[in-house]
Amino acid sequence: AKTDGRGVYRFFEAEMGIEVRDRRMLERDLRSAIARHEFELAYQPQARLDTREIAGFEVLLRWRHPQRGQVPPGLFIPVAEESGAIQHIGEWVLRQACQEASGWTNPLSVAVNVSAMQLHNPQFTQLVHEILVQTGLKPGRLELEITETALIRDFNRALATLRQLKALGVRIAMDDFGTGYSSLSNLRAFPFDKIKIDGSFIKSVQANEQAATIVRAVLGIGRGLKLPVLAEGVETREELGFLGAELCDQVQGYLVGRPADIAGFRYLTHAAESARD
Ligand code: C2E
Ligand code: CA
Ligand code: CA
Ligand code: CA
Repeated sequence: AKTDGRGVYRFFEAEMGIEVRDRRMLERDLRSAIARHEFELAYQPQARLDTREIAGFEVLLRWRHPQRGQVPPGLFIPVAEESGAIQHIGEWVLRQACQEASGWTNPLSVAVNVSAMQLHNPQFTQLVHEILVQTGLKPGRLELEITETALIRDFNRALATLRQLKALGVRIAMDDFGTGYSSLSNLRAFPFDKIKIDGSFIKSVQANEQAATIVRAVLGIGRGLKLPVLAEGVETREELGFLGAELCDQVQGYLVGRPADIAGFRYLTHAAESARD
């Protein structure tokens, strides 16, 4: 039993070693990923629950690594955030998304995830402005998804930046609501246009009365504050039924559509065709 502790420690150390080496490789490869055209955007529809219409799409970054194949964003985004590469990558995502969306026949909204480091860059509002001008996308079609973790780093700067972005006409969604450093005061302090309930709560609404209670409470807060609420990660008809009964505004999840190449949504991005059905 005495040697157990040491054995466990060594095993752990070895695993960490692989992780560190892996991280370094990812970090290095991320630096050249844009130039090598390894990134692509996937789009996931966001639907209104009352009319069942698609209101817009969330942009999700996809990285096809030449040796590893698809690397999930849950793995490489944190590495990009720690190394600072997210600044450059985030700018690429924003420009690419605005460029692609500006070409859609149907002027649906496009939601882009913004990391803390991007938001706290003093040039961020200017960058968003330039990209909107360059791509010709109407500011009202761009929604920026921001987590509370990104806001609390520097409250005053975050507030100033969100106000500047709002002045441009861009919309702001609070992402992953209910996880991390959630605080109701943030809903009051920052000028949000939408609340996104994290998928982890939706996954549990059927089996877990506590999760259902929390979702109902968030929907109540949204109604009270006149902020539309979107539920993430909706996978089943039962979950959709629950959200419909509770008057949730929008849903996003595999049930409505998986993240995919925008070409797969042609019928949605072409006004004439979608009007016919
Ligand atoms: P997120 O912002 O919470 O995005 C939603 C995640 O849930 C996406 O994972 C999406 O594919 C997944 N998802 C959607 N519907 C369902 C469902 O019905 N069931 C389940 N189980 N999952 C669903 P993905 O694409 O792997 O992205 C993971 C995270 O990576 C995102 O979480 C976001 O935080 C980050 N991310 C992705 N793209 C970007 C980006 O361009 N910039 C930044 N800063 N972060 C990004
Ligand atoms: Ca998001
Ligand atoms: Ca989430
Ligand atoms: Ca997130």
